[in-house]
Amino acid sequence: MRKEFLPFSTPTIDDAEINEVVDSLRSGWITTGPKVKRFEEAFRAYVGAPFAVPLSSATAGLHLTLLALKIQEGDEIITTPMTFVSTLSMIVLCGGRPVLVDIEPGTLNIDAAKIREKISSRTRAIIPVHFAGQSCDMDPIFALATEFGLTVIEDAAHAAGTEYKGRRIGSLDSISIFSFHPNKNITTGEGGMVCTKDESLAEEVSLLKFHGMSREAWKRFTASGTPNYDILLPGFKYNMMDIQAAIGIHQLPKLDGFIDKRTEIADFYNREFAHVAELAIPAYAPYAQRHAWHLYTPLVRVERLSIDRDRFMAELKQENIGTGLHYKAIHHHSWYRENLPQAEGSLPNADYASDRILSLPLFPKMTLDDARDVVEAVKTVIARNRK
Ligand SMILES: *Cc1c(COP(=O)(O)O)cnc(C)c1O
Repeated sequence: MRKEFLPFSTPTIDDAEINEVVDSLRSGWITTGPKVKRFEEAFRAYVGAPFAVPLSSATAGLHLTLLALKIQEGDEIITTPMTFVSTLSMIVLCGGRPVLVDIEPGTLNIDAAKIREKISSRTRAIIPVHFAGQSCDMDPIFALATEFGLTVIEDAAHAAGTEYKGRRIGSLDSISIFSFHPNKNITTGEGGMVCTKDESLAEEVSLLKFHGMSREAWKRFTASGTPNYDILLPGFKYNMMDIQAAIGIHQLPKLDGFIDKRTEIADFYNREFAHVAELAIPAYAPYAQRHAWHLYTPLVRVERLSIDRDRFMAELKQENIGTGLHYKAIHHHSWYRENLPQAEGSLPNADYASDRILSLPLFPKMTLDDARDVVEAVKTVIARNRK
């Protein structure tokens, strides 16, 4: 058995990030300023978006995007049950009604073929989530959006570096929202970015993120700025700080290398688990794409075992292997069960995955020896509990 606990994820922070944060702290400029601008510019260029707005989180990005689109009471937003809860909670907090569409059984992405039947006269937008870093099938989603006049908002929290048919997520005809939470493919501690081709939407999100002050208001205490400012509308306090951007500036150039490393580990898992009947390994979508491998999420075929998924995770922990849960399906959470009830069996693939999914360790600093320990522990737990 492995001697030290292997966490499911941990960020890769080197001296470059640390020194840049220290530089901010020593410079006297800690909050939104030149480093945020540098990170915004670099990220915007990397994903290929004309406009990018740095924020305190992806959740803030979802919130402000929905507000900027004037989502209101009774508006319906189509999304997936296999996501982090903030995708849904921001819709609800804006007064909108989330409408869930089932996932594909292999990729666990929203099933684009099932979206049409959920579109009504109240539908305003579709929020696909690029699950685990694999792009959703965007062409049919854009076709529906055009046909029905809907906005596409990509929850790209897992998808920094993901590509769909040769195009980077962030550069499509939509609004994409990225997360820099410590577990994501690159981090700023906490942080997010809204990317879009729509200048007026970027402008509106920019205003809303900082008290409704005009875009360059952060400069008001610098030599080039003026202390006076104007409030154009009531806004929030969702700005990214320079000490956060300082981390991101040095994470971004490493992103492609991080993805290569994640892919190497994921491919190793896929090979090792291909013939393990008690696991269903994640499927690659059939179209051209680059999977960013944010998560490695096999399904445990609990019907072949004498234990459930939660017990499986507990036994892996006893073997010193950490796991994550991404995700228990949204409609299985108490609030959503009560307030967004789904007809029994209407989301069968999400129900199936929700009870079986787990996230195995996957992060760039992992070695193949670490991955071998994971495989051995998984096989040990299976052997011990096989029916
Ligand atoms: C992490 C995550 C979010 C929220 O990101 P934050 O930056 O933590 O607000 C939203 N959606 C998905 C799918 C996520 O994984």
